[in-house]
Amino acid sequence: MRVLIADEVDAECGSKLRAAGFEVDEKFDVSYDSLKRIIGLYDVLIVRSRTKVTREIIELGKNLKVIGRVGVGLDTIDVKAAEEAGIKVLNTPQMSTVAVSELVMGMMLSLARRIHIANDSMKRGLWEKKKLHGIELNGKTLGVVGFGRIGRAVAERSKAFGMNILVYDVIVDEGALARLSAERVGRVEDLLSRSDVVTVHVPLLPETYHMFGDSAFSSMKQGAFFINASRGEVVDTAALLRALKSGRIAGAALDVFEHEPPETPDEKELVSLPNVLVTPHIGAQTREAQSLGAALIAENIINAFKTL
Ligand code: NAD
Repeated sequence: MRVLIADEVDAECGSKLRAAGFEVDEKFDVSYDSLKRIIGLYDVLIVRSRTKVTREIIELGKNLKVIGRVGVGLDTIDVKAAEEAGIKVLNTPQMSTVAVSELVMGMMLSLARRIHIANDSMKRGLWEKKKLHGIELNGKTLGVVGFGRIGRAVAERSKAFGMNILVYDVIVDEGALARLSAERVGRVEDLLSRSDVVTVHVPLLPETYHMFGDSAFSSMKQGAFFINASRGEVVDTAALLRALKSGRIAGAALDVFEHEPPETPDEKELVSLPNVLVTPHIGAQTREAQSLGAALIAENIINAFKTL
């Protein structure tokens, strides 16, 4: 069985698959056009979020039996086209829970204490101690939109910082709610109007596309913070920009963007605002998460071939 690893995946994945008898090619920077030319040679395609597995790729992948996604989101794979072609799609949803939740904690602390602004200012030779007043997280309310693996992990960590937790989700884990003494709200607007920090952890679905637009931002508490480490398309960039420029919200931290890298004038302006903390989709970029994801996808693929 021939495997193509088309995005940068920890070496452990290739080693485990080779040890199990698979022939593995690692082409981490393969372009979309090259992928079109070579995909027909492979039985297995392994990707992260860079490579878009479109219907076109799937149709050209005449020998494809399994697509492995190292990560959670399947929005970069045409799952319907894969199903129609009888191709199994596997992912490793548990790999990034700790990594993303720790990044979000870093973002929240930075927004509250303005660490990113202080850092920029000192590097420009300034000493703006008097300007750099922040707030404490202790006693503040965190609104978690999407109370799945990552949302729950952020809530647990925030509880340790003395925060009150509000939750909005379409399905809720009652055990986790009780454990964190978290309160569930029935309407996202109720969470937005009461939270000092809002953090988003929903998947990208037709129902969550632009879930955060003008109406959501105008429901937020004046001067609150907004964090998005889910998917860029969950947020209407232009609306977020308006909310920040009008002072409706005090700051935002973003790990994900509608275009990656940001390319529209609105996205570029958003990135340039001093009260916006940005990272280039590094949520899952820890040694531990990548090693776990690589091992898990290899094991899932080996197991899948036992039953194919
Ligand atoms: P998960 O499936 O465990 O949790 C998602 C939660 O969102 C679920 O509880 C679900 O019920 C809820 N949800 C779905 N639709 C909703 C809606 N319309 N309104 C409210 N809640 C809704 O997923 P997870 O592991 O917690 O990951 C969440 C998302 O984070 C992923 O889908 C992915 O897009 C993103 N992610 C980003 C990075 C990164 O690098 N920044 C890494 C991993 C995951």
